[in-house]
Amino acid sequence: MNNKQSKSLFDKAQHTIPGGVNSPVRAFKSVGGTPLFIKSAQGAYITDEDDNSFIELINSWGPMILGHAHPVITSAVQEAVNNSLSFGAPTAKEIDIAELICEMVPSIEKVRMVNSGTEATMSAIRVARGYTSRNKIIKIEGCYHGHGDSFLIAAGSGAVTMGVPNSPGVTDGTAKDTLLAPYNNVEAIQTLVAENKGEIAALIIEPVPGNMGLVLPKDNYLQKLREICDAEGIVLIFDEVMTGFRLAKGGAQEVFGVTPDMTTLGKIIGGGMPVGAYGGKAEIMNFVAPAGPVYQAGTLSGNPVAMAAGLNMLTYLNEHPEVYTELAAKGEKLAEGIQAVLKELNLPYQVTLLGSMICIFFTENEVDNFADAQTTNTEKFGKFFHQMLENGVYLPPSQYESWFMSLALTDENIQQIIAAVKSSLIAVE
Ligand code: PLP
Repeated sequence: MNNKQSKSLFDKAQHTIPGGVNSPVRAFKSVGGTPLFIKSAQGAYITDEDDNSFIELINSWGPMILGHAHPVITSAVQEAVNNSLSFGAPTAKEIDIAELICEMVPSIEKVRMVNSGTEATMSAIRVARGYTSRNKIIKIEGCYHGHGDSFLIAAGSGAVTMGVPNSPGVTDGTAKDTLLAPYNNVEAIQTLVAENKGEIAALIIEPVPGNMGLVLPKDNYLQKLREICDAEGIVLIFDEVMTGFRLAKGGAQEVFGVTPDMTTLGKIIGGGMPVGAYGGKAEIMNFVAPAGPVYQAGTLSGNPVAMAAGLNMLTYLNEHPEVYTELAAKGEKLAEGIQAVLKELNLPYQVTLLGSMICIFFTENEVDNFADAQTTNTEKFGKFFHQMLENGVYLPPSQYESWFMSLALTDENIQQIIAAVKSSLIAVE
């Protein structure tokens, strides 16, 4: 594969951008080699500066559910920019999108727009702390909630990929208020709660973690967390930055029938524009300024172009529930194909699937938590990743990430991905 342009751009970028990228996982650090510099994307395909085109399974880490440059979203952006790019004042569209979010995710009675998933999670725990007058939070090992100080502790995703799960710069004072428990382990939560009685403000969790690879909840885990939080007055926060509006209209909470007190949302609600949001029970959200005493603000929050894109995206999803059955059917087709390849090649690896989120772990162990995920052979994943690129498929450049499918993937694309998986596995084994 010719990557001359990407190589030269990556060299150039190192001079003025730390590590040559604006977000660490993009640097291909864990898989080695040169990151692709992207020129454009359309539908199910992404094209780099060397004019290589790939079938896309990153989809901007989730938001491009409808595929790239979908007219539903691009037309909204084109129309909105004609009326200027930012006002720093309220607009009617903000109300429309807030109403739509509350309708699609009924646990959200009030919602505040922010500019990223990180802002959403940081703000949500501040509000939970203000609401409960407690300081500590429980975080699940391997869940990633953005780069807020309180969350860079046993974080998955880029943080583990970079080998710095505990980032320098996070103070001991902050870290001590974040308590950790493994995913799918109810007893660990019970122990933390008993040891910190009356001190825990919130339990924040990716209901379906996509940042340690994709891992699924088992044995009514989420329901049991709900019961513990109810009994202890702990605010249960579902971080649905990846799963919201992707797994179902109402996100993972709809799929598993568990209602959190607060929900954080991200990239998907901007249809690719930089947006996040946090919301939940009115009683809790009324603590947010100016309704209440917990301060949180943003010059560009509710940006009119982002709101226009997001509103069209969510309206489309709301009016086309078949999107979710179609995405799930695509996911099943891909997972079945990969399982068949693994069987044929006699490889014991794990495939995890939920809706349009999928991943392969290069381990023979069942993966129920971050420790299990870390038994994966990351070196083999790295080689597999590069073989997949050679075979025309662009995967997330880390074992600890879910793959995201879009509606634009055709049956033929899915067969191409399965064929690429087969040749890539043969090449790396
Ligand atoms: N929460 C989850 C579950 C995420 O996956 C991410 C990012 O991938 C974030 C929060 C942070 O979002 P952002 O990168 O927009 O700050």
